[in-house]
Amino acid sequence: MKGFISSVMLILIFSSCFDPEPFTPEQEAHLNFEQELRVHVENYLFEAEKRGIDVSERISEVQGVINEINDDNVAGTCTWHSQSPNEIVIDESFWNNASSLYREFVVFHELGHCVQDRGHREDQFTNGNCVSIMASGVGNCRTAYSTSTREAYLDELFNPTEF
Ligand SMILES: [Zn+2]
Repeated sequence: MKGFISSVMLILIFSSCFDPEPFTPEQEAHLNFEQELRVHVENYLFEAEKRGIDVSERISEVQGVINEINDDNVAGTCTWHSQSPNEIVIDESFWNNASSLYREFVVFHELGHCVQDRGHREDQFTNGNCVSIMASGVGNCRTAYSTSTREAYLDELFNPTEF
């Protein structure tokens, strides 16, 4: 019994020494996203900030998970809720087979819906490539997200009125 009491006290002392620091908005945001999605959420916040856009408050009201979506043609969804956080679901089969860049593309697209309230944009350049990563994927334009087009697509994502 004596041993039990002292170990309880030890735990109390130990935990009081490690009071967590309050989370920054960026860290707070990550907590709502499944571990594997967090690197992309972090990059999204970084790219937004680089372009003078602060989405840290909005993103803390969004949550994200990886789950099987029962539709072969859908890689991700964003559901708007009025009473609970907006929710992003990324399809598990898509996730397991996609490159890091393509994963980012889909996560950013859904964040565009859920965080920025953007709808779809189906415009295309003269070469047929989509103007925006907010293209639905079922329109006529061709998705051309690559390391060389990434910067331009992110410029459009965060400042669509300039395009
Ligand atoms: Zn969409």
